Amino acid sequence: MNSPAQRSRRDILKSFGAGAALLGVSSVLGQTKNGPASPPKLPVRSDAATAPFTLPKLGYAYDSLEPHFDARTMEIHHSKHHQAYIAQANSLIAAQPALQKMSAEEILRKIGEAPEAVRAGLRNHVGGHVNHALFWEQLGVSGGGVPRGRLGVTMEKTFGSFDAFQMQFNDAAMKRFGSGWAWLSFKSGRLEISSTANQDSPLSDGATPLLGLDVWEHAYYLKYQNRRADYLGAFWKVVQWERVDARFASVS
Ligand code: MN
Repeated sequence: MNSPAQRSRRDILKSFGAGAALLGVSSVLGQTKNGPASPPKLPVRSDAATAPFTLPKLGYAYDSLEPHFDARTMEIHHSKHHQAYIAQANSLIAAQPALQKMSAEEILRKIGEAPEAVRAGLRNHVGGHVNHALFWEQLGVSGGGVPRGRLGVTMEKTFGSFDAFQMQFNDAAMKRFGSGWAWLSFKSGRLEISSTANQDSPLSDGATPLLGLDVWEHAYYLKYQNRRADYLGAFWKVVQWERVDARFASVS
């Protein structure tokens, strides 16, 4: 399992140090021109940062998910839409010292405790930041296929098969009326499929999101117009399951 190449890669990563630096470097090294660099220790997106939040760099170019996700949509989605959520979130938190000590994820987990004056804004904009950070992290140039790790086994136990999981997830995504997200989450020791409206996060419902699909029209309208089902088909071609599996491993 652990080839010399894998071992040396880990040693290289170790030499960069632990913590956030390691996550960042690993995120870049996780993909090569030839596909995933068989990383047993894939990065798990950290939203542990406190405000001011910043736009996460993508581990791939805007045009690298073509033809499934087009470059123009990726650029606008990342640099305009996600950035706008971040700007609004930072603006809301600027006058809230207590919130400045909390990570983005923690704010969403405890959204019910947030000051009422900013609660809806936090739900929308901190939610928008965390949801999109996860969205970018789970995609990759060598995406597609099925999960190979423990997540795949757990999916089969929970849903019967990967195909059954996918059908149920697609159903959640198609039935979400208007803008929102479809999710695979981990909650109370189980995998769960759900959908949320707007930028609501499963974190606010006591769940940890593992895979999220943005079904806002801004995510697909330029290329797919009203054809949400076609966008779903494209999504499955760019999901990097190693990353989802790593996230699952970190919470289960
Ligand atoms: Mn979006």
